[in-house]
Amino acid sequence: MNDKIKTIANQSLQNEPISREDAHYLMQINSDEIYDVFYWANQIRLRYFGHSIKTCSIVSAKQGRCTEDCSFCSQSARYHTGIEEFPLIDSNNILDAAKYAEQTDSDSIGIVTSGQGIRSSRDLRSICTAIEKIAKNTHVHPHGSFGILTRETAESLVK
Ligand code: SF4
Repeated sequence: MNDKIKTIANQSLQNEPISREDAHYLMQINSDEIYDVFYWANQIRLRYFGHSIKTCSIVSAKQGRCTEDCSFCSQSARYHTGIEEFPLIDSNNILDAAKYAEQTDSDSIGIVTSGQGIRSSRDLRSICTAIEKIAKNTHVHPHGSFGILTRETAESLVK
């Protein structure tokens, strides 16, 4: 058992924040010590959340057209899967997906977009509008999976 991982985990178990340096240390582990991280992550989950779960729906808000080549991803430029491709859908369609998630008792709606990140200010505005509409018209929590974000983009999304 890795003592440093254990020390960091115990901080969390005592409800103390961990430092940025310690977070980086955990993120860079790529050996079998990752199983220590899994063990302690599970202890932390049990401590704060027990066996309760939250349900989440997702909406594929932008699909295909990705120029990257992540080998695990069916939307990668390296594969020709024949999936339907479309640009970012309208914010009202994202809201409709959130309303459906609410009707089916989801706690949250995950907005997922293909691509390395949000690259156009138009798309960013549209996603922010969708998030505002979800917050105003539903009780589900909007989550996002938007690839790599710049600091400015991240700040726009949380405003
Ligand atoms: S950047 Fe995202 S959408 Fe594109 S191939 Fe990688 S994981 Fe898939």
